[in-house]
Amino acid sequence: MTKTCVPISGDSAGAARKMADEAISSGANLVEIRADLIADIDPATIKKHFSDILGVSIITLRSKAEGGKSELTGANREKWLMKALELGAAFTDLEHDADKKLLHNLRNRGTRVIASKHFLGDWKIEEIDRTLSECCSTGGIGKVAATTRDAMEGISLLDARKSAGSSRFSLMGMGEGAEITRALAGSIGSELAFCALDKGKSVAKGQLTLEEQRRILLDDRIVVGLIGHPLGHTLSPRIHNAAFRKMKLPGIYLTFDIPYAEQIPNFMRRSAKLRVRGFNVTIPYKEVAFSAMDSLDDEARRAKAVNTVLVQEDGALKGFNTDIFGFSESLRAAGYDPRNKRALIIGAGGASRAAVIALWRMGAKIIIANRTPERAEELVKSMRVFVKTIPLDAVEQEKPFGLIVNATPVGMRGFETAPIVPESLIEKAEAVMDMVYNPMETPLLAAAKTHGVKMIHGLDMLLFQGAKAFEIWTGFKAPVEIMKCQLMEAIG
Ligand code: NAP
Repeated sequence: MTKTCVPISGDSAGAARKMADEAISSGANLVEIRADLIADIDPATIKKHFSDILGVSIITLRSKAEGGKSELTGANREKWLMKALELGAAFTDLEHDADKKLLHNLRNRGTRVIASKHFLGDWKIEEIDRTLSECCSTGGIGKVAATTRDAMEGISLLDARKSAGSSRFSLMGMGEGAEITRALAGSIGSELAFCALDKGKSVAKGQLTLEEQRRILLDDRIVVGLIGHPLGHTLSPRIHNAAFRKMKLPGIYLTFDIPYAEQIPNFMRRSAKLRVRGFNVTIPYKEVAFSAMDSLDDEARRAKAVNTVLVQEDGALKGFNTDIFGFSESLRAAGYDPRNKRALIIGAGGASRAAVIALWRMGAKIIIANRTPERAEELVKSMRVFVKTIPLDAVEQEKPFGLIVNATPVGMRGFETAPIVPESLIEKAEAVMDMVYNPMETPLLAAAKTHGVKMIHGLDMLLFQGAKAFEIWTGFKAPVEIMKCQLMEAIG
């Protein structure tokens, strides 16, 4: 069973002890006394301040070469570490490179030694394999931590778990993309899961908090996340993690920033093997995700775009499109019925596809306007819907619309321009919907407000599509009110 371990640091031994007490009382299985990060500490002060909790402590003196702050080398370092070992801590962490001699001499000393190696720069998986195997044969636990640049590197790193054989090991990433390696500590059989007491107190980027790590060490853990690039300040983790907490489910929602489209199928398959429960998919990967599925629900098949993936029991990937539900539900919540109304959809990407299906079903008369008219024509052809398409710059000549929908990023924070359609059309509309949700009041919605036209916020669509995805992954009805509060709070 994987044990949680909170690294402890501080301005003094006393401050570090306080932190250790907090970690233990919050449920940490172990604390790691990071002696290199605690001012003025040595084995004597460790004995004085920590003797009664040494049974649940790891003593570590991380060298500068491996990302720590200890400048001790050679005989001085060896002497320090020997004294620390004699204190009788649960474990002492020795370094594969700096403490080679000591590790060799102690190799028959039992299980209380962790042999570790930190890769701070580039690495090749063969190197990680070899090192983890060596660490496992010299220590009671072999440990490797390596810098990862994105989630794809994170999931690839976990392949090295096989080189530990039946030995006790701990394997994790540090940096961007490392969260998945931490969240899957239980799935790969890692002996230790290093985590932070709370946000802002982590000693390595990618560490989860103790509360998060404990939540997902249970066997029925639900690890899900958002795949996209770039992900910036997405609100999805906030709403889903609040929902997991509210429902007391052992779940976590992460972000998987994957730089290249061709990596998506590989990332999903590898994650599925490690029992990741599912994904959300955002720009620009909804179409790639569609092609990577083993099966699809009707809506995703129709839209030819997937924004939610469920990993099934046998590891197969099933694709859904919850944007369609999110769109219909936000119109319903706003009390707008588009039946027999002229509806203008601006944009011809994945979001537009969802709007087309939803409005088609609701009986609207749809017109799609896109900057690149050929893309709109292609959308109509591939979806086999009978819908008129026009170039974006021709909307002005159109008769008034009941509903106007913006399905482009125009109006996004940092991308705020004039409303994407002329005011003459906005003022005659009955309702205007903007899929852009940050800011909440986009230039398009601000214009609608000025003319007393019903506004439908992109935030509602985000909420409802997220709630549906939550239900697909967990089988439970989503706590929509809690999720909504999180969104409102985040947007301010
Ligand atoms: P996408 O597949 O990349 O498509 C973007 C569309 O916007 C294309 O039709 C593109 O036209 C058009 N476009 C981009 N920049 C433009 C500009 N400067 N002027 C005019 N048209 C422009 O993206 P998507 O997945 O459909 O997403 C579109 C927007 O909807 C994004 O902002 C996304 O965040 C939002 N969205 C929100 C929700 C929600 O829950 N609220 C859900 C899904 C999407 P071309 O074909 O000419 O390039």
